[in-house]
Parts: sequence; C-alpha cells; structure tokens
Amino acid sequence: MPGVELGDLGMKMAYNATCNGYGRFSGVRVPRGSLLAAHAEVDGDGMYRVVDSGGENLAKKLYATMLDMRCIIVRGAGMGLAQTVTVATRYSVVREQGRPMFAAEDSAEVSLVAYKSQQYRLGMLIAQAYAVVFASKAFDAEYRQFEAERAVGDYARLGFIHGLSTGLKAWATTVASAGAEEARKMCGGHGYLAISGLPDMVATVAATATFEGDNYVMWQQLVRYLFKQIKTQPVDADIAEYMGGLTAYLEKDGGRWSLEGGVCELATLQSIFRHRSMRLLALAFEVLSKESETSSPGEAWNKHMMSVLSAGHAFVEYYVLRTFAEYVDGVRDTDSNLAATLRRLCRLFALTTVVSPVSTFYAVSFTEDGTLNVAHLTQMRETINELLLQLLPDLVALTDAWDFTDASLSSALGCKDGNVYERLMVWTKQLPVNNGSLVAEAWGGDEGVGGFLRRNNNIRQSKV
Ligand SMILES: Cc1cc2nc3c(=O)[nH]c(=O)nc-3n(C[C@H](O)[C@H](O)[C@H](O)COP(=O)(O)OP(=O)(O)OC[C@H]3O[C@@H](n4cnc5c(N)ncnc54)[C@H](O)[C@@H]3O)c2cc1C
Repeated sequence: MPGVELGDLGMKMAYNATCNGYGRFSGVRVPRGSLLAAHAEVDGDGMYRVVDSGGENLAKKLYATMLDMRCIIVRGAGMGLAQTVTVATRYSVVREQGRPMFAAEDSAEVSLVAYKSQQYRLGMLIAQAYAVVFASKAFDAEYRQFEAERAVGDYARLGFIHGLSTGLKAWATTVASAGAEEARKMCGGHGYLAISGLPDMVATVAATATFEGDNYVMWQQLVRYLFKQIKTQPVDADIAEYMGGLTAYLEKDGGRWSLEGGVCELATLQSIFRHRSMRLLALAFEVLSKESETSSPGEAWNKHMMSVLSAGHAFVEYYVLRTFAEYVDGVRDTDSNLAATLRRLCRLFALTTVVSPVSTFYAVSFTEDGTLNVAHLTQMRETINELLLQLLPDLVALTDAWDFTDASLSSALGCKDGNVYERLMVWTKQLPVNNGSLVAEAWGGDEGVGGFLRRNNNIRQSKV
C-alpha cells in the first residue's frame, strides 16, 4: 500500500524462526472501522479510550496477560539453563584432559569432572537450575490460585503476583543466561562449536533477560510493590508474615538474628537470606525516604537505584531459597534418598549464592553488615567442598532427571550415550567442506577456481 513500509530486522543472536520486523506509515489514514481495536477505540474527535469488556477492568486484564507470559519465561529460562548444564555435565564426564598434580605420574588422564573447579561450577549450575524450576512451579501455583480468584472478580492479590512475577523473571533470566554461558565455557573449545548446540542455547537463554521487559526495569517494579507494602498494612497472605518481620526489624533498628544451629544448615541459611533481604529493603527505603526530603521522588529513586536493585534481588533470592526448601520438605516422607540429595543441592544453592554472587550490585550484601564473618565464610567453603563430594555420584542423574531427548538438545557433546568423539567426527564429516564435494567444486571442478584458471590460462597451474 502507498505510504506503508514493512521490513524484517534481520538476523538476531537466536530466535531466528521468529520474525521481528518494523513498520513505517507515512501519510496513511486507517478508517476507524478498520482498526484492530478489540479493547480500545478512537472516537471521531481522535479521543483514545480503552473499552472494558465482560465487566473486567482492561488494565487489570492486560496486567494478567503479562503474568501468564512471565510464568512461561521463568520456566523456559530454568529449562534453558538445565539444557546447557546437561550438556556440560555429560561432556565433563567423557572428556579426558591432563594428568593433574594430584594423580600419580604413570596414571591415565582424568576426566574434567575430577577437577574441583569443574565440580564447583557443575554443582552450582545444577543447583541454580533446580532452584529456578522449583521457584517457577511455586509461582505457577500462586498464579493459578490468582486466576481462580480473578474469575470471581477478586483482584486483591494482583499487586503481589505482579511484583513477584517481575522479580522472578529478572532473577531467573539473569541466573539462567549467566549460567548457560558458564556451561558453554566449561566445555572448552568444543563448546564453542555450533554442533555442540551450546552457542544457540546460550543465545536463546540470553534473550530472556531482555524480552518481555528488561530485567533492570523489572527489579524496580518489584521494589515499588515492596515499598508500598511498607507504607501500608500488608494485605497479601503470603507476604504478610514476611513484611511483618520487616516492620519488626525496622522497629528494632538493626537487630541481629541467631546463627544457632550452624551457618551451613538449611534453616539458618534461610534466616540469613531473610535477614539480608529485610536489611537491604529497609536500607533502600530509608535512603530513598531521606533523599525525597530534598529531591523529587524520581530523582531520589534514580540516585539510589543500586540500593533499590539490591533490595529486589535479595527479596527474590530469599523467596527462591524458601520454595526450594519447601520442595525438599515435600518429598521427605515419600522418598528419603531423593530428599537427601535435593537437600544437599538446596544447601549448595544457598552456600554458593553467598560465596559466589552472580553479579556486582549485590556482591557484598551478605557480609556488609558484619553478621557473617571470615570464619563463617571459611566454614561455608568447607561445607561446599563436602557437599560437592557427596553430590558427585549424582550429578549425571540430576541432569538426566530433566529428561531431555537427544533431539531436543541437538548437541554432539551432550547425547545420552556419551559417544562424544564418534558423534563429533560423524557430524563434522557431513559438512560440505569436509565431504569432498565443495573442495572438488571450488578448486578442481570445471565450475570452480581450477576450471576458471584452466579456461583463462592467465595464471600458471604450478602457481595455483
Ligand atoms: C528476541 C527478542 C524478541 C522480541 N520480541 C518482541 C515482540 O514480539 N514484541 C515486542 O513488542 N517486543 C519484542 N521484543 C522487544 C523487547 O520487549 C524489548 O527489547 C525490551 O523490552 C527492552 O526494551 P528496549 O529494547 O527498548 O531496551 P531499552 O529500554 O532501550 O534498554 C536498553 C538498556 O537501558 C536500560 N534501561 C532502560 N530503561 C531503564 C530504566 N527505566 N531503568 C534502568 N535502566 C534502564 C536497560 O537495562 C538496558 O540495559 C523482543 C526482543 C528480543 C530481544
């Protein structure tokens, strides 16, 4: 149509089966009757109005649609991380590299998983993938409950569900995209090959940190909700207990909590996460309130953005640890072996989160108020080492449990049978550049360079 210009944005890092395009309209008038306007209308004077349908408030309805999408993204991010870790785990068992210092001189090379650093990275990433998946399941349950309430016109928990969904989306996709890239690096040079499947997996997970709302914007939405809860009486059942704790904490102004039971025990770890979350939330609230006395709310918010982000992040990590622990409790009576393994994994998740924070804006937040000291951190690192040893025999089973098919992984490094090198050779040999046809055509065939040179005879064959 005249004045209508449409186009595609071209290749992206991944998601190339999805078209992202542009549209430009110049001097185009669309008749009002032809607008794609199910939920909005423009009247004859150009006034834009949303149309409430079925007695449901449209703004709330649109909010609810985004929630649905965030459920999918959090789950997808968890599975995306799980895919890369599955490949990295299988490859780490098969790949033999080096005769390390700890082995006898005449011993064979060891597989990658013998190295403590590889164990640490695998264990941490597997634990994170489980943490995302469990948090996603917990959030799905919250969301389904909200859907039932919404069906009878009850939107009381929309704020809580929205806040939690934004924070969870930001946290899960940040962890998943950083973890997927780490899993790729764990496979060395072969992990960089397209046929490892990893570059595509990493690029696919990376998009989740950006689409459906950039994470740095998402964190802020969660904290806005949390601040509202500080200002008003909490109404949401799930958060009431938590925010009640915050109020008590604020009143006591810096009250400490007990580390009784040992800093590496799950119950204590949960209280450490909870304390840190409340402290950061209280801190952000306090600096913002103070700043707002002399600056506009917007300026104050922007100036103290990093405190705001830390508070949101810490809240989600507390929520995630709590849901993980609840899942462990849930299987305690039905399967004690599984519960024991998951409990180790859950503790590993908590401990590695304290000693190896993923990003910089919260790196020192567990220790900055002095509650955890150097001795505690040393103890945590020792416990991590013990947990890694205990989990070592379970690493493959923990990734097999996600039940990815070989086809879904499409990875020469990560198939179930562990035939990494055979598959690498078979897949590589299929490439036109290796199977003879391309070379014959390019250099030797009549259509190739050789033919061109022979026909033109302007460069001596010996030079070629
Ligand atoms: C694979 C893919 C598919 C997509 N598909 C769709 C689609 O189908 N439909 C659609 O409508 N959109 C789609 N998008 C677009 C996507 O929703 C946006 O890219 C995303 O919301 C971020 O917005 P932006 O690109 O304008 O980034 P910007 O807002 O320009 O962000 C750039 C940087 O600035 C920072 N920043 C921006 N605002 C703030 C703030 N308030 N506070 C702090 N930092 C800030 C961000 O953190 C980011 O680092 C897609 C994107 C991708 C990557």
